[in-house]
Amino acid sequence: MQQIGHWIDGKPATGTSGRSADIYNPATGEVQAQVNLATKAELDDVVARAAEAQKGWGATNPQRRARVMMAFGALINEHMDELAELVAKEHGKTLPDARGDVQRGLEFVEVCMGAPHMLKGEYTTDGGPGIDLYSMRQPLGVVAGITPFNFPAMIPLWKMAGALVCGNAMILKPSERVPSTAMRLAELLQEAGLPDGVLQVVNGDKEVVDAILDNEEIAAVAFVGSTPIAQYIYGRACTNGKRAQCFGGAKNHMIVMPDADMDKAADALLGAGFGAAGERCMAISVAVPVGQETADALMERLAPKVEALKVGPYTAGEDVDFGPVITSAARDRINGLVDSGVEEGAKLVVDGRNFSLQGYENGFFVGPSLFDNVTPDMKIYREEIFGPVLSQVRTNSYEEALKLTMDNPYGNGTAIFTADGDTARDFAARVNVGMVGINFPIPVPLSYHTFGGWKKSAFGDLNQYGPDAFRFYTKTKTVTARWFSGIKEGGEFNFKAMD
Ligand code: NAD
Repeated sequence: MQQIGHWIDGKPATGTSGRSADIYNPATGEVQAQVNLATKAELDDVVARAAEAQKGWGATNPQRRARVMMAFGALINEHMDELAELVAKEHGKTLPDARGDVQRGLEFVEVCMGAPHMLKGEYTTDGGPGIDLYSMRQPLGVVAGITPFNFPAMIPLWKMAGALVCGNAMILKPSERVPSTAMRLAELLQEAGLPDGVLQVVNGDKEVVDAILDNEEIAAVAFVGSTPIAQYIYGRACTNGKRAQCFGGAKNHMIVMPDADMDKAADALLGAGFGAAGERCMAISVAVPVGQETADALMERLAPKVEALKVGPYTAGEDVDFGPVITSAARDRINGLVDSGVEEGAKLVVDGRNFSLQGYENGFFVGPSLFDNVTPDMKIYREEIFGPVLSQVRTNSYEEALKLTMDNPYGNGTAIFTADGDTARDFAARVNVGMVGINFPIPVPLSYHTFGGWKKSAFGDLNQYGPDAFRFYTKTKTVTARWFSGIKEGGEFNFKAMD
């Protein structure tokens, strides 16, 4: 059985805790590897080594650090298929989807190649007599990234690229369900020229996360995962004086106006609702048609398309629409939520329960489920299902649809499908959600913008990637300098003018 340890000081290291977790092949249900779970003592030791390594790396000029990102980007491209397969093998998503996972991470690595520009600071000459001011962005020191299972490449890449190019050392704690991709990325970074110890990958569970939160040397924590854990990590990190950004779960609504192109809206819902088995924080899980005719037209188109979705292992090739979910517990929870929807009176139009695939009977597969007549009091509406389940909530007006979206405690992504520019503009301006799509179901911004939700979908005040990453991973120092030779002959300092 393959044993996965940690990545410490530029090489693989076996854990010493004696504790490990099973890693499954979600398509077969078999245990395919085990990952060591680090202790607090292991974490503290690794952080001390990272702090040593950071001194030289932080003092390296930004252009050299950016060159490591250039070499890293080239290596990611070169190993794209291998990385995608690693993702698919542990996560279960299809290969095209896994390639997208790596690609979206790579795009931010590409943005990080421009770090010298982002880090060059600000300058004011003659802010007073003989006085110049300049601000510089300096690394924080050692920072930590804690990542979820659903994007084994993209989210670790978002974390490590930004942190490292800004001159920090990073402790990366990937999801214990999918550690292999992060381990391989660490190896590629080393090949790209990253000095030993600047990126340490420490595998583990709550024990190591708590050790990260309590370690005084760690200056900042960047977390992505479910809302209860995001809130917990944000609270404990802040109490311990760390900078923290913690991104949480979602319940994303897509409003469909009566004037929308119904075929395009149905296609968009199909991809956004069921792609990656719904295990995306930007998945659309609630369709909100405006008017009964719109709802009927949408359901009429959606139902056969959902019935026709192909579920299977990534090895089955590009014919498969989505793969298994991550664990048997996730599968059982999703099926249980579908049961609750039926019990609470929603209309189950397509039933994905009891899905079984010949030859993969022990895999964690769930078929697609489609609900109509869902109401906001139902559990399937209130909870993030994180599975291939789409709920239609009928509304009678745009204002009602907007209010539903705004009253939801989550605020990660949302979309509107309409042919009317005024409605779209009004929606974009008023909705209290961080990322908005107009005739665009999954509005994940490009890497040179930023990514972040509102309300219970994010804790902290800077977004991930884009310009905010350079702000999050650096602190600003502002120098006010006076040069007496700059004062004109015979001139006096006018201190009053400076008051
Ligand atoms: P999770 O919260 O279970 O785990 C995330 C990380 O936290 C993992 O590294 C895990 O080891 C750690 N963790 C888990 N329980 C912990 C505990 N009790 N104490 C300390 N650490 C703990 O999330 P997941 O199931 O891996 O990922 C799915 C969730 O992530 C979904 O809710 C999804 O919406 C969310 N997500 C959000 C975004 C975003 O940008 N907002 C992106 C991707 C995923």
